[in-house]
Amino acid sequence: MDVIATIQDFRRARGRFGRLGFVPTMGYLHDGHLSLVRQARAECGAVAASIFVNPTQFAPHEDFSRYPRDMERDLALLRDLGTDLVFTPGVAEMYPPGSVTAVEVSEVSERLEGAVRPGHFRGVATVVCKLFNIVQPTRAYFGQKDAQQTVVIRRMVRDLAMPLEVVVCPTVREPDGLAMSSRNVYLAPEERRAAAVLYRALRQAEAAYRGGERAAASLRRIMRDTLAGEPLAEIEYVSVAHPDSLAELDAVIDGALLSLAVRIGRTRLIDNIPLPPDPPD
Ligand code: AMP
Repeated sequence: MDVIATIQDFRRARGRFGRLGFVPTMGYLHDGHLSLVRQARAECGAVAASIFVNPTQFAPHEDFSRYPRDMERDLALLRDLGTDLVFTPGVAEMYPPGSVTAVEVSEVSERLEGAVRPGHFRGVATVVCKLFNIVQPTRAYFGQKDAQQTVVIRRMVRDLAMPLEVVVCPTVREPDGLAMSSRNVYLAPEERRAAAVLYRALRQAEAAYRGGERAAASLRRIMRDTLAGEPLAEIEYVSVAHPDSLAELDAVIDGALLSLAVRIGRTRLIDNIPLPPDPPD
């Protein structure tokens, strides 16, 4: 496994491979990340991952400086999975002085997470675009955990005719349903227990949908009521949205996205469930 910190060296190493699967990450890897690497490994001849905590997707008051990092452990995990290339640039390599270009995927970036975190998806789209230019993947792998991110990236790839395929992999969860996240380490034991309420709320709404409920307001109410039962949970938003536009729905459609953002103490957690797609005719 080659671990490479510069764009120039990475381009040279990438030239040795044909089809390449790519998993961009911010490191502090868990089984969610590793599931993407495994799928890339299974589908592509070679696999590259990147580890880069991207400052431009964090607002000044957010957790960039305290975001968890453990490069040695991450590299050992990637090596065990047979990763071929790992790109580990520093901030100055990705954003040299004078960098003024950004990628703006409007509308879908402004809703949900984008409404609470203005500029977040501009940072995400810009860094992922740049990583794609450096890595030149055949397929790039993203987690359903960050549902809006997958919508933004798919739209960028389509709108800018980027020559690669975006693959979205299912959310990997802890036994109590909490979606795995590098940020889960911020949770104190009592908060960690409380955090299971996110998935419970989503599952309750999903069950109502499967039972025939088609009023989006009812599904939002069910999520709010379940979250309200957990005193440590502070709701930021609950949403029932169109899977492509992310616009809020009145009537639930097949494939709609149930999502929520909740604060547990100082930690902000997000989760989602896509409702089943249109049944085939
Ligand atoms: P991050 O390091 O948080 O930027 O995540 C890197 C990639 O891993 C993104 O595509 C995430 O959506 C994905 N990911 C993070 N957590 C999970 C999870 N629990 N299950 C599946 N994919 C995940």
